[in-house]
Amino acid sequence: MLENLTTRLASVIKNIRGQARLTEDNIQDALREVRMALLEADVALPVVKDFINDVKQKALGVEVLQSLTPGQAFIGVVHNELTALMGTTHVGINLATTPPAIILMAGLQGSGKTTSSGKLAKLLTEQMKKKVLLVSCDVYRPAAIEQLKTLASQLGVDFFPSTGEQKPLDIALAAQDYAKKHYHDVLIVDTAGRLGIDEVMMNEISELHRSLNPVETLFVVDAMQGQDAINTARAFNDTLPLTGIILTKLDGDSRGGAALSVRHVTGKPIKFIGVGEKLTGLEAFHPERMASRVLGMGDVLSLIEDAQRNVDHAEAARFADKIKKGKGFDLEDFKAQIQQMRKMGGISALMDKLPGAAGAAIPAGADEKAVNRIEGIINAMTPQERSKPEILKASRKRRIAAGAGVSVQEVNRLLKQFEQAQKMMKMMSKGGLSKMMRGMKG
Ligand code: GDP
Repeated sequence: MLENLTTRLASVIKNIRGQARLTEDNIQDALREVRMALLEADVALPVVKDFINDVKQKALGVEVLQSLTPGQAFIGVVHNELTALMGTTHVGINLATTPPAIILMAGLQGSGKTTSSGKLAKLLTEQMKKKVLLVSCDVYRPAAIEQLKTLASQLGVDFFPSTGEQKPLDIALAAQDYAKKHYHDVLIVDTAGRLGIDEVMMNEISELHRSLNPVETLFVVDAMQGQDAINTARAFNDTLPLTGIILTKLDGDSRGGAALSVRHVTGKPIKFIGVGEKLTGLEAFHPERMASRVLGMGDVLSLIEDAQRNVDHAEAARFADKIKKGKGFDLEDFKAQIQQMRKMGGISALMDKLPGAAGAAIPAGADEKAVNRIEGIINAMTPQERSKPEILKASRKRRIAAGAGVSVQEVNRLLKQFEQAQKMMKMMSKGGLSKMMRGMKG
């Protein structure tokens, strides 16, 4: 599934040149690649345009965490935006109404409506312990009624019989009545489809919708149909108040574009995906998981997550290693830690998370400005002063204060903070991270 898209996106990662920040320049080619990949995967053009814009806006200025390459950081942005494009969070089936909760299935002939009705009945029965009744209103195709009946008996789910001589609405209302009397929790109404959008079909299903007032109106669409799937989705969405989408045949060699477009075009959540002809082939749709699948880079994505989560630990470990090797913690390291904190985002948000020395040394509530001043002071020192702060006597301090545009008191305060940080590093080298964390809390 979606292999071409995945392959193309994989090449993006390698092609962003190494820089600490994502810029207009270094992501330009990557954006072009993503655009091509999406168009090839049959994602609708307006969707591609919006998506590329979003990715660009979000990517510009993103700092590249130390353990990542710029390509990986860019993929992180694409992953987030893909997830958002597909709806961000999983939306489950809604059965919150007086029983029977009616689920109306809509879609073109061959989209997988009948199969999906059966799959859904299985899922609701087995996973949600619901008592389900299935009914078919496809009076034009007796074979379709038979097909649903067969599925129902395979599943051991109740089936409400109908014939080609009845009217669809009469069938549905009789089934609703039957479900009420027999305490069914859910009634799944399969409807007639056509090969294309057709006014008679639309009127019929609109009438069913008005009379049944279903809690779910699910639009079933075949992912293999590419751009056509999107046009059909739009037409159904304009006519019926859809509550969700079932995207079928994602197991086949669909190019996958529909999965990426359909939410954006209709504004309705994809609730399930069909991943096989068997009755077990229905899965709850999770935008985040689908985005990972599309990118096909599980390893990179977890790397990004780890980098974001562990950058603080990694940094602490690096310093611990340095101290173990007998090297002192100097002002240069202190500055590096402060810069590291910057990279990780807002200072105050990180104050309590950072087990590094800088976390302990910078007073709680320190803002960006305070950090800028600290950096300014360290920058005004000579390399020798940074590596041996003990040589900083009054005259040197005055020179540094003047160079950094601060008072001598501020230089002294910084040196105090640095001493605290040094102590912290010593503690860490003796007792490891956990001891240091305890020290920080106390
Ligand atoms: P309907 O006309 O909308 O009721 O469509 P059907 O339920 O009869 O399905 C049409 C064809 O698509 C059948 O051959 C199904 O087995 C097949 N089908 C339905 N859903 C899926 C799916 O998720 N994956 C695959 N591979 N085939 C499916």
